[in-house]
Amino acid sequence: MKLFAIIGWKNSGKTGLVERLVAEFTARGLTVSTVKHAHHRFDIDQKGRDSYRHRQAGAQQVLLSSASRWALMNENRDAPEAGLQALLARLAPVDLVLVEGFKTEPMPKIEANRAETGQPLLAATDTHVLAVAADHVPPTDRPVFDLDDTAAIADFIAAHLALKPPRRDRDSSGDCFALPPGVDWVPVDEALALLKDRVEPVTGTETVPLADLSGRVLAADISALRASPPAANSAVDGYGFARAALPEADAALALAEGRAAPGAPWPGSLPPGQAVRVLTGAALPDGVDTVALQEHVTVSGHQLRIARPPRQGANTRKAGEDLKPGDTALPARHLVRPQDIGLLASAGLAGAEAFARLRVGVLSTGDELVEPGRPAGAGGIYDANRPMLLALAARWGFQPVDLGRAGDTRDAVRDALDQAAGGADVILTSGGASAGDEDHIAALLKQAGSLNVWRVAVKPGRPLALGHWRDRPLFGLPGNPVAAFVCALIFARPALLRMAGRPWAEPVRITVPAAFSKSKKPGRREYLRARLTAEGAVEVFKSEGSGRISGLSWAAGLCELPDGAAEIRPGSPVSYLPFSELGI
Ligand code: AMP
Ligand code: MG
Repeated sequence: MKLFAIIGWKNSGKTGLVERLVAEFTARGLTVSTVKHAHHRFDIDQKGRDSYRHRQAGAQQVLLSSASRWALMNENRDAPEAGLQALLARLAPVDLVLVEGFKTEPMPKIEANRAETGQPLLAATDTHVLAVAADHVPPTDRPVFDLDDTAAIADFIAAHLALKPPRRDRDSSGDCFALPPGVDWVPVDEALALLKDRVEPVTGTETVPLADLSGRVLAADISALRASPPAANSAVDGYGFARAALPEADAALALAEGRAAPGAPWPGSLPPGQAVRVLTGAALPDGVDTVALQEHVTVSGHQLRIARPPRQGANTRKAGEDLKPGDTALPARHLVRPQDIGLLASAGLAGAEAFARLRVGVLSTGDELVEPGRPAGAGGIYDANRPMLLALAARWGFQPVDLGRAGDTRDAVRDALDQAAGGADVILTSGGASAGDEDHIAALLKQAGSLNVWRVAVKPGRPLALGHWRDRPLFGLPGNPVAAFVCALIFARPALLRMAGRPWAEPVRITVPAAFSKSKKPGRREYLRARLTAEGAVEVFKSEGSGRISGLSWAAGLCELPDGAAEIRPGSPVSYLPFSELGI
């Protein structure tokens, strides 16, 4: 087991660095554990906990267990504090152990150092400190890394320890999705957290007229220019009057000449004791504060009788009761829907500042692919992913950019990606990743030094690569159309929306009873093509085969099964993601 320590004074950034290094090495396919040495006053246990009570009563060791983790607590009692080697002996074998703390132990170390802590360098006194990771250039004779350049620091540690990502071939169990022994795949939530953390809005802004604003993302808060409604008005067709002048029952009023209609106000001021005809939406005449419904009055000649006059203010709308000038009608990053256009129009706006449409480039890879509509030879497969992903991009409100197809050579894929980088803000590729030697996308991303995540523990979905090509985020989707579609929904969509200016959004899952049985193995999250039955249970497509693209058309959503093992029987609660929650 290889050992490397991150040391530093308090607030030097060592925990953040350890955290990033764990993620970095894990993403590189290594297994990593950590050791953390806490300061002397820190206690692992807390007074009042059950485990605390067990220990107080005299237990030498307490093994604490829950569904998510277990921990062994050992009482030092009169024994001295455990040394690093004794603690390491308790760890399961892994490729790398990162140690935080234990700064006096002799082992290779990097010192985290922040200018603001103003402390002298530990490196000055410890020959095991091989380099310094700092947010400034400190006076030292060791190499200095940028504290945030995790990849460079990881490269340095890997080189020093001669760490190599172990070769992890596919297992031979026949299930091409089974996890080879010892392989740590990146869990779905981790891949999503990484995207959430790293993806930012990338498009500029432009002024868009109301007519074109539906489906666009607002770039700034929109303030109402005008009150809505602009003036107090009647909510019904009826008769207006001043309520204070009327008795509680059997009111008789003289009916004034004329009427108040929308756009044609009643001129003049209505004396108390009189009533005037008002139509829905008409500005309330001066002297009117209440309107009686026409169904609730009797009119004879110039006389109006109201048996039970309504309360003051009844059937009227106040000026600005919905919006006052200067109120925020809609917030920045809001996705404009048809009803929002109505709101903006009434608030006096003819358009708004919106993010430019995100340009989503879509590239298919594979020598076997044939353009739909063209004759396909024996080995030909129609390119289903490209038109499907372009349609998804359009449905999500982005500008689809057709990048065509590339054959299965590294040069062809590289050329296509280079071209893409000019005309698209983000690139979706499919295929070119599962056929061993043909995994051009991942290989190219690795070469370019920007493969962020590789091998996400998801089914269908293997393989899925997340990285950057010439600073453009790239989603290397699987070739299989079902897997490409599911991965686009789960991983690409939230990231693309974020890039297009929207806040990060979690689709709403609903928990419903299953209408199927399944024994799920642990190790990866699964998405089944699903829909709701008339009884409100989730049924799944008859085949899980990821080549069965017809199942996507059959489905109305996805049933999401957890990363761990699951035994599902009819009636078991399962998580259902309607396609409508995924923007389709
Ligand atoms: P690959 O990742 O390139 O090995 O592709 C995996 C599977 O998906 C193969 O059976 C490919 O033929 C198929 N495939 C790849 N790209 C597409 C596409 N654009 N349309 C339909 N099938 C595809
Ligand atoms: Mg291929």
